[in-house]
Amino acid sequence: MAAVLRQTKQKQAVYEALAALDHPTATEVYERVHTEYPAISRGTVFRVLGGFAEQGRIRRLALTGSDTRFDPTLAPHAHGVCRVCGRVCDVFLPALASFEPGRICDGFQAEGCEVQFTGVCGQCRRETMRASAQK
Ligand SMILES: [Zn+2]
Ligand SMILES: [Zn+2]
Repeated sequence: MAAVLRQTKQKQAVYEALAALDHPTATEVYERVHTEYPAISRGTVFRVLGGFAEQGRIRRLALTGSDTRFDPTLAPHAHGVCRVCGRVCDVFLPALASFEPGRICDGFQAEGCEVQFTGVCGQCRRETMRASAQK
């Protein structure tokens, strides 16, 4: 019983760390959980994240030019990846909001949806503007 309790608590800690971070990698989740639960191993955190993704509780993101990241937001949305700092932000598009898994189009059955924009995030744009204003 104690082992089950501990497992539940570990899962909860992993989920909370994931939700508190912004599209973190597994390592970032591990580092956050580890500060609070020093006994938790990297392998456990990675396994819990993988389990959540398989159960559909979180999304596993395979973004181009980025490590695998995890996202607790299940509503269909796209991602913008900053080409300067690598930050990932959510982009909510009305067209994606009506996406339904299982919809068949020309014989293709959709199981998921991954839309990625590349560009420069707000913070990096502000820094670029500030730098060019000082010239
Ligand atoms: Zn940026
Ligand atoms: Zn997202």
